Amino acid sequence: MKLTGTPSSGWRQAAKVLVLYLVLILLFTGLGILFAPSSAQVGSTRPEDTIPEHLLALTGFGLLLGIGGMLIYGRKGLPLVVLTPVLTVGLDLDHLPAYLGYSQTIRPAHSLVFFAAALVLTAIMIKAPDMELVVASAFMGHMAVDTGLFAPFSPISFQYFPLGPYRLAFAGGALLCALGAGAILRLEGRNSGGRGRTEG
Ligand SMILES: [Zn+2]
Repeated sequence: MKLTGTPSSGWRQAAKVLVLYLVLILLFTGLGILFAPSSAQVGSTRPEDTIPEHLLALTGFGLLLGIGGMLIYGRKGLPLVVLTPVLTVGLDLDHLPAYLGYSQTIRPAHSLVFFAAALVLTAIMIKAPDMELVVASAFMGHMAVDTGLFAPFSPISFQYFPLGPYRLAFAGGALLCALGAGAILRLEGRNSGGRGRTEG
């Protein structure tokens, strides 16, 4: 076992969380294509000229969330600062078929079922409460920035609802989870004598 000043296991965990998250997004995208009726396969990309602005908004809000966590923990929270905006932007990987010219459902991974699955899988495979909260923060942060329709129960139901009424709640949840992730890191640091995480 090695004690390190920098929590390099934090970076490793962040990489694992990212892979898990992206694979799950692609899985939900595939499930949408397989199981949705053709009447629900109406997902498209936003107008091209608005994409850079939207990506910037997602990255900016994700960064803000990550930095919110780091304000509590300090520099050792860097994996969290990087991972949060990457996951926040990454959720839009579920538009991939539409970009490639295929029909698909609207935002198949922008779903509460996806959210629950991501949290459960992160808990089982990563076993780090701070990373769990980063996943929650990034997902809700993305939903807070998006506008338009989403299918909250995709891939079980493809009934679409407007995001508008829920955006503020998502923003609040995202902020709370980001701060919670920072707080957990701080507690872990204190419990291990402030020397960062252990590796073994
Ligand atoms: Zn989106």
